[in-house]
Amino acid sequence: MIEIKDLHKSYKMGSNSLHVLKGINFSVAEGELVSIMGSSGSGKSTLLNILGMLDEADSGSYTLDGVPIKNLNEKIAARYRNKFLGFIFQSFNLISYKNALDNVALPLYYQGIKRGERVDKAMAYLEKVGLADWAGHLPNELSGGQKQRVAIARALASDPKVLLADEPTGALDSKTSYEVMNLIQEINDEGRTILVVTHEPDIAAMTKRIVNLKDGKIIQDTKVNQVRALENV
Ligand code: ADP
Ligand code: MG
Repeated sequence: MIEIKDLHKSYKMGSNSLHVLKGINFSVAEGELVSIMGSSGSGKSTLLNILGMLDEADSGSYTLDGVPIKNLNEKIAARYRNKFLGFIFQSFNLISYKNALDNVALPLYYQGIKRGERVDKAMAYLEKVGLADWAGHLPNELSGGQKQRVAIARALASDPKVLLADEPTGALDSKTSYEVMNLIQEINDEGRTILVVTHEPDIAAMTKRIVNLKDGKIIQDTKVNQVRALENV
């Protein structure tokens, strides 16, 4: 599903350059649930943003579902992003003046799906995350965990092949974090490929494979026995 080879990325700042990713080799098969661990500043978000086609590497190769991701024009890149990738962020990134239903329906609008079908689909995804009764509520009327579940429904709405989550539990208390991880595990149980960036070992333990990033390199990549999140709630 994902294959990267010898990926390098530097940020240029004036005459200085910060070498953040120093030759990353990594692949993810369909259906995996992988966590990317590492201390703050180790390059986790940089790597995830490149995988999410939000940023480009300086060198190395990236292949997503058989498609080489390189020098794509913005229109084609946007089409691949919509088709292949769903995003979940620490800060939810919901639109504050749109209710839960309309937030979930938004990606479907950009896909050109008609209003009636958008509403039906968005409602089905809200039901899936247990928030059908909250469809008409604005983000500021929802708890943190509810907001993240709306964001997960939104990420699923375009039926992406891969979900990319950057510190999805970073703004949540432990109990709520485990509830969100339970949802992520259920979505993965259905076969969807998911990558989760986290610096919390208990969250990483709820995935099936832990990739450790340090000083711009992968220092460890281990399959683990997944802890089910509900055991912790
Ligand atoms: P992590 O997500 O693991 O905390 P990041 O990938 O966000 O790490 O950042 C890695 C390093 O790159 C940090 O030192 C950060 O300050 C730097 N960095 C990230 N984004 C930029 C940018 N757009 N411009 C310059 N430096 C950046
Ligand atoms: Mg980060």
